[in-house]
Amino acid sequence: MGSDDDACQGLFSCILCGDCCRGYGGTYLSGTDVDAISRHLGVAADRLVAYYTQLSGGRRLIAQGDDGYCIFWDQVCTIHPVKPKMCRQWPFIHSILVDVGNWRAMAASCPGMNADAPDRKILECVKKALQP
Ligand code: SF4
Ligand code: SF4
Repeated sequence: MGSDDDACQGLFSCILCGDCCRGYGGTYLSGTDVDAISRHLGVAADRLVAYYTQLSGGRRLIAQGDDGYCIFWDQVCTIHPVKPKMCRQWPFIHSILVDVGNWRAMAASCPGMNADAPDRKILECVKKALQP
């Protein structure tokens, strides 16, 4: 994901390391996500929910595999064309607008993010990427 705007070049370039797909971070699923993934995989939505998701605080998350990675990670994201909104938006997410320091905190665990970019550029690009 990310902004394609030239002004935002150099801010983020995913190296496909998969680090953000590991650990209990919580990839939330909307009903739209469930429908899109179940169509993509060719499984019924209720089966997808039963076998590939779990609840956390009443919200539906993608389950983790025994290896600690998202159940849909297998060297690559196996549902890339229909991955949830949270995954598509990363790292251009709303919490950066609340505190731009979150960009640098996230960059500590995401090698694709440029931690040295100026705050103004980060904020402008996140705002652009989040525009409807
Ligand atoms: S941690 Fe960052 S660089 Fe690695 S796959 Fe995730 S988004 Fe891409
Ligand atoms: S859906 Fe894909 S991008 Fe999102 S956490 Fe799972 S493997 Fe990673």
